[in-house]
Amino acid sequence: MSCNYAEGLSPYEHKGILGVPEKFEPLEKFNKKCDLLAQYISQSKHVVVHTGAGISTSAGIPDFRGPNGVWTLEKQGKKPSTNVSFADAKPTKTHMILKKLVECNKVQYVVSQNIDGLHLKSGLSRKHLAELHGNMFVDECNVCKRQFVRNRPVETVGKKCSGVPCAAEHVGGRPCRGRLYDGVLDWEHSLPDNDLLMAEWHSSIADLSICLGTTLQIIPSGNLPLETAKYGGKLVICNLQPTKHDNKADLVINYYVDDILEKVMNILGLDIPTYNEADDLSKMAESAIIDWTINRKDVLALEKIFKAKCKGVKKKRSLIKSKRNSAEPSTNSNDDEVDDKSKIIKLEVQENSITEGITANGDVKTESVEQNGTEQNQG
Ligand SMILES: [Zn+2]
Repeated sequence: MSCNYAEGLSPYEHKGILGVPEKFEPLEKFNKKCDLLAQYISQSKHVVVHTGAGISTSAGIPDFRGPNGVWTLEKQGKKPSTNVSFADAKPTKTHMILKKLVECNKVQYVVSQNIDGLHLKSGLSRKHLAELHGNMFVDECNVCKRQFVRNRPVETVGKKCSGVPCAAEHVGGRPCRGRLYDGVLDWEHSLPDNDLLMAEWHSSIADLSICLGTTLQIIPSGNLPLETAKYGGKLVICNLQPTKHDNKADLVINYYVDDILEKVMNILGLDIPTYNEADDLSKMAESAIIDWTINRKDVLALEKIFKAKCKGVKKKRSLIKSKRNSAEPSTNSNDDEVDDKSKIIKLEVQENSITEGITANGDVKTESVEQNGTEQNQG
């Protein structure tokens, strides 16, 4: 259960802004904004979707910072009342839509902060998925670093050893002598290298980043969508609560993500697949060894594309709010930017940042304003 996950983490003070009221677009505005999102997707060549806990709430898994989120309730001395087990949770409409959009080449990459394994269960391929905070259904070997899919969620968090020997064979057929560890990050663990590189490069190459069900408060995950905007791409945020970066977005839609994406699929004329156990690698893992390691060839291929497109390119928008970002608390004052990006650091978000988030109207910005990118973000 996600409570068990939360309870397994070390105590941590800076859990961000919690329990801000949710907002819902009026129907007419909702329809208009979904039209525009569908249009953005159709017109874009490289689309990256960033997902957070908000896409799994309709599967019965509580989020963290919503009005009934795990951290929100924790602060009130309570626990969520509805809570499905990770073992039983099924991918939501949003997970299945994302799998479909990737398969028909409308979305090129998904970057997830979720550890619930629902993207894996949906059948989304590893080639198109970064799991920045780990996955309850994936173990990692401490020696060869290969990852393997589990048939049940792991019972530990924080990279603990399960004692199970690694199943990988080295070149020459000799078995790896490593042991398997859970891959679920605790606060301040380094993010997995290849997942983070893939996420960062895809976000930089993208001409459209869509954030779904995240308040974007955790760095570096929450800042990756800004890379798209910095290189001149569009940023869309779909969330019930205001987010940290609403004021930098080209479009903000406050509504249930399942409903937004269902509407968008309608407009695009695409059908929504249902969950199929035959595509669920955690089911296959009951009777086979399933490798979940990111292919190094994919990382190197993407690096080439990233360097060709972004190296030497003057970023269209300067690093917005760079001062505030650099002033954010770090666990290690000696961290340079690179180190900083390799850690999960919960933000102690200043009171004024949420005010900005709420006052950002989320209305569609016109092209002329957008071209004047640095201006629009001053307010
Ligand atoms: Zn190994």
